[in-house]
Amino acid sequence: MGGSALMGPLAVCVYCASIEGIPPHYRELATELGSRIAARGWQLVSGGGRSSLMGAVAIGARAGGARTIGVMPKALVEREWADHDSDELLIVDTMRERKALMEAHADAFIALPGGIGTCEELFEVWTSGYIGLHAKPVVVLDPDGHYRGLLEWVRGLADRGFVVPEALARLIVATDVDAALDACAPPAA
Ligand code: AMP
Repeated sequence: MGGSALMGPLAVCVYCASIEGIPPHYRELATELGSRIAARGWQLVSGGGRSSLMGAVAIGARAGGARTIGVMPKALVEREWADHDSDELLIVDTMRERKALMEAHADAFIALPGGIGTCEELFEVWTSGYIGLHAKPVVVLDPDGHYRGLLEWVRGLADRGFVVPEALARLIVATDVDAALDACAPPAA
C-alpha cells in the first residue's frame, strides 16, 4: 500500500540545506537518508539542486537505485546547480509553485538540517497538515539538536497557549534515519 500521491512507490519529499559551508558531517546524513530511501524501494522528491545537502540526498538516492524527482524555480537553476541527472526535473516559475509541486508529488515529508528556506518549507507543510489540508506525515530528522532551539521555542509557545497540543503532535521528531523513514511508511493494512 502507499504509493506516491501521483503514482509509483512511496515518495518522500526531503527539505534541507541548499548552501555550502555547513559542517561536513551533515552531507553524510543526507547521503545516508537518500540511500535508505532507495533501500526501501521508495522515490525521492527534492528541490532539484545539486548543491549542499540537497545534492547529497539526491545522489545518495540514485546511487541506491531510487527514482528522484526535482522541482526547481527557473531563477535558481544556476544558483542551486539544477540536478540534470534527476529522473524528472520540473522547472517552475515561482517558489510557491515549487512548494506546491513538491507537496503534490510526495506522500511524506522529512526536514533535514537546513536554514531559513528549509524552515519555511517545513512550517508550511506542518501547518497545512495541522489544519487538515493533507494527512501526510511531517518529520524532522534531527540527530544532533540542530532544531533544538526552534522546537523548544515552539513548545514554549504551546505552554503559553499560542500553539495547541494537536499541532505539536502533528510534527514527528526523529533522531535517526530509520526512525524518520518508519514514520513515513503507511500503517500496515
Ligand atoms: P536553506 O534552508 O535556506 O538552505 O533553503 C533550503 C531550500 O529552500 C533552498 O532550495 C531554497 O531555494 C528553498 N526555499 C527557500 N524559500 C523558499 C520558498 N519560499 N519556497 C520554496 N522553496 C524555498
